[in-house]
Amino acid sequence: MQRTIQYYLQALNHLLYPHGCAVCGADYISQQEFICIKCKHQLPLTRFLHLPNNPVEKVFAGRINIHAAGALCYFTKQSMLQHLLVLLKYKNSRAAGLYLGNQLGEALKSTDRFNTVDYIIPLPLHPKKEYARGYNQAAIIGEGIQAVWHKPMLTNSIIRLINTNTQTHENRSSRWQNMEGIFHVTQPNLLRNKHILLIDDVITTGASLEACGAAILQIPGVQLSIASVAFTI
Ligand SMILES: [Zn+2]
Repeated sequence: MQRTIQYYLQALNHLLYPHGCAVCGADYISQQEFICIKCKHQLPLTRFLHLPNNPVEKVFAGRINIHAAGALCYFTKQSMLQHLLVLLKYKNSRAAGLYLGNQLGEALKSTDRFNTVDYIIPLPLHPKKEYARGYNQAAIIGEGIQAVWHKPMLTNSIIRLINTNTQTHENRSSRWQNMEGIFHVTQPNLLRNKHILLIDDVITTGASLEACGAAILQIPGVQLSIASVAFTI
């Protein structure tokens, strides 16, 4: 009897507050789910987080000293993953970021390569940009990670001093000159001798992560790892 009532209450709830898959719109998913199983199976997973010397680690090789790095998915244009990232970055959808963070957190948890991480740090946005968007999308992903992988997150330990767009068309050395001095660590003592996992939504050139990582690596005894939702090939 109770089950029947529960079933009708759920059906009524669905009728009053329609809830569909954020990607394909299918309306047969529960209130707790964000995308349907069919769409979930289409996530272009990389399996890089498990894999030493993977293509994301190669992006940073010879640039900064990384303990482990990886990305959950390949970034492909016009894909459902791009749709979710657009929802997160430009359509004010925290739910998309939390969902992607959950998936990334499950992947991080399932490999021992990130076991020793002490703190998660989302790549900081310039305060002006964060104010305009209303949030830092990397911090929302971080919250999603934390929901399934219980590591503390620090959002005020590093600040972004200069608002630049990543210069993808420039060569590496001039890009590095542009990126130097952009980030400032405000709580170096807190990070001393810790393993930091720096996270972002998408890795393209890796220039911002490299600049922020270099600032973190100035702290004595620190170890640095990097993880993102997507990786552009
Ligand atoms: Zn769907």
